[in-house]
Amino acid sequence: MRVLPPTDTSVAFAAEAIRRGELVAMPTETVYGVAANAFDPDAVRRIYALKGRPADNPMIVHIARIDELDGLAREFPEAARVLAERFWPGPLTMVLHKAPNVPSEVTAGLDTIAVRMPRHPVALQLILAAGVPLAAPSANRFTRLSPTGPEHIDDELRAGLACVLDGGRSPVGLESTVIDMTVWPPLILRPGGVSRGDIQAALGVPLGQIPSEKLRRSPGMYPRHYAPRARVVLVDRIENGYPGLVFGTPAGPQQIRMPNDSTAYASALYDALHRLDRERPLEIYVERPVGGPEWEAVLDRLQKASA
Ligand code: AMP
Ligand code: MG
Repeated sequence: MRVLPPTDTSVAFAAEAIRRGELVAMPTETVYGVAANAFDPDAVRRIYALKGRPADNPMIVHIARIDELDGLAREFPEAARVLAERFWPGPLTMVLHKAPNVPSEVTAGLDTIAVRMPRHPVALQLILAAGVPLAAPSANRFTRLSPTGPEHIDDELRAGLACVLDGGRSPVGLESTVIDMTVWPPLILRPGGVSRGDIQAALGVPLGQIPSEKLRRSPGMYPRHYAPRARVVLVDRIENGYPGLVFGTPAGPQQIRMPNDSTAYASALYDALHRLDRERPLEIYVERPVGGPEWEAVLDRLQKASA
C-alpha cells in the first residue's frame, strides 16, 4: 500500500484498482473516504469488513456528474434539484429513492440511497477516471474518528487498500450534512458541512425535526461515533494542564487552542483529536463551544464523541 501524490498517474492507478474491485482511500473536502465501485457488491462488502462497519449502516455514493444520478436514484424531485444546484459539488448528501440496479449492500437493504457530489478536485478526478459512482464511507474503523489527512488513516485500514491518494488536509473537516429528500418537508438526518439555515434559505421552507423512530430507522446514527480512543469529556473550562481542546491560551503541551469561528473549529477538530489521542491519554477534555446554530454540526460530533 502506498500513499500517492495527487498526480494524473496516481489517479489513473487508483481508478484502475477501483475497476478491478479493489479499495482506495480518497480525499474529499469533508473527510477521507474508503472508495469502491458502487456497482460491485463484492467490493462494497469488503469495505464493511475492513471498517468493521455493521451491515445495517448504508454508504454514501459519490458522483462527479449530475447524469450519474440516473443509474442511482429512481427520481430526482424538484427540491433536490434546487439543493444540487446550490450546494453541489459540496458537503451535502441527499437521500433519494433508489434505482433498482444499485446493489443492496450499498444501501444496507433500504429502498433509499444517499448521494453526494464532493467538491475535492482529486475525488472528482477519481470518480471520472473510474467511470463509476463510488460508494465511500469515512476511512476509519467503525465508531472511530474520521481522517482529515492521510496520516490519520490507521495501519489496519491501510492493509486493505490499493493506495491512499494524498489530497492534503480535508478543508471542511466534518462529515457531510445528510438530508432526507423522500419526505416533505425534507429532514436533516445528520448535521454537517452545509448548515440548516443555508438549506432552509435555499428551499424557502422550514426543515422537519427528527422524530425518534426515524432516528432508529436512519442507520449509522449510533450514540457513540466519531470518537478517539480516549474518553472525551465536555467541560465549560479546563482548569489545569489536562490534555484537551481550549479556547484560551494553552496551559501545557497537551492542550490545543481552538478557533472561535465554527467553520475554522470544524476544520481543525479531528486533526486536533487525532494528535492528542496519539499520546494515548485516558481522557481528552474539550471546552464546550457556546454559540448559535452555526455550531450544530460541531456540537453533534462532540456529543457523539463523548457519549
Ligand atoms: P459515513 O459514510 O460514515 O459518513 O456515513 C454515512 C451515513 O449516511 C450513514 O451512517 C447514515 O447515517 C446516512 N445514510 C446513508 N444512506 C442512507 C439512507 N439510505 N437513508 C438514511 N440515511 C442514510
Ligand atoms: Mg463514518
